Amino acid sequence: MPAAAQSPPMVLPRSVADALAALALPGAQAVAGASWVMRAPLRHEPQAPTWVALAGIEDLHRCDITGDRVRLGALVTHDRLAHALPAAPDLRALAQAAAGAANPGVRRIATLGGNLCATGFAAADLAPALLALDATVEIATPQGRESLPMEDFLTRRGAPGPWLLTEVTIPRGPWRSAHARLPMRKAGDYPAAIVSLSATLTPERRIERLLAAIGAVEQAPRRWHALETRAKGEPLAALADLAQDTAGITARDALDAPGWYRLRILPTLVRRAAEAIAEDTA
Ligand SMILES: Cc1cc2nc3c(=O)[nH]c(=O)nc-3n(C[C@H](O)[C@H](O)[C@H](O)COP(=O)(O)OP(=O)(O)OC[C@H]3O[C@@H](n4cnc5c(N)ncnc54)[C@H](O)[C@@H]3O)c2cc1C
Repeated sequence: MPAAAQSPPMVLPRSVADALAALALPGAQAVAGASWVMRAPLRHEPQAPTWVALAGIEDLHRCDITGDRVRLGALVTHDRLAHALPAAPDLRALAQAAAGAANPGVRRIATLGGNLCATGFAAADLAPALLALDATVEIATPQGRESLPMEDFLTRRGAPGPWLLTEVTIPRGPWRSAHARLPMRKAGDYPAAIVSLSATLTPERRIERLLAAIGAVEQAPRRWHALETRAKGEPLAALADLAQDTAGITARDALDAPGWYRLRILPTLVRRAAEAIAEDTA
């Protein structure tokens, strides 16, 4: 009988500084909920020789919500997030993303930091929601801490370490947001495409400012700047038509769906998200 695979040796730091020191060991890898790293062999990826488990770092469990902003430690789980966020229109995209991802068991262990730092994971739900909410990410390195916009973080997250995502900050405001994905929810299936929107509307219900993000479509989540530009001054109801133009989006082919299908469903997802925003403002 073949021997069962062993988990790598684990270091259990109590502070961010100690975690960074442990991550400087050759090949060491941070582990949060482990729902991605434990599946490395299934993806035919090498398993790290040392795991640095973050769970014992108290600071990273922070979940601090005020009327001005939301500050979330990297270890906040999807489940905790879904329960902690108030039913506020500006935060709705994030609440929907946290509550709709994966299945209840995974939502109880998978963390915010793990969702954003799993570089090979194209279908992360939290990433497009946070892009649409103009979130800022804090990174800790041995040199200190740095805050950067989500968009910049996503282009830099493949950088060699040691570094850790420590927290995410989301501004609050008079905008409305929504998160739409297909399939809606089917345990174990990743979404084929995701759209997150946040919109500030004029009194005439025209779009003053739109932040739009897509997930699962390309290799990494990203803002849909072309749609944001086209939408300015337009009625909310026109958004799905404007989303028919998917020029500039390079959809990926994968086992779960071909690229053409991901592009085809984007206008539908935009329509659903826009309708949810319209309901909030009725
Ligand atoms: C069956 C199943 C279905 C799923 N469906 C969905 C879905 O529909 N939508 C969705 O969004 N997710 C889904 N997930 C979860 C997703 O695939 C990832 O497994 C999860 O987001 C990883 O979170 P984690 O905390 O477990 O990260 P881990 O597995 O612990 O880590 C993931 C990566 O992030 C790094 N990392 C973790 N924390 C930090 C940090 N603070 N700083 C720096 N690097 C860090 C690790 O080194 C690793 O590279 C699903 C998972 C499963 C098992």
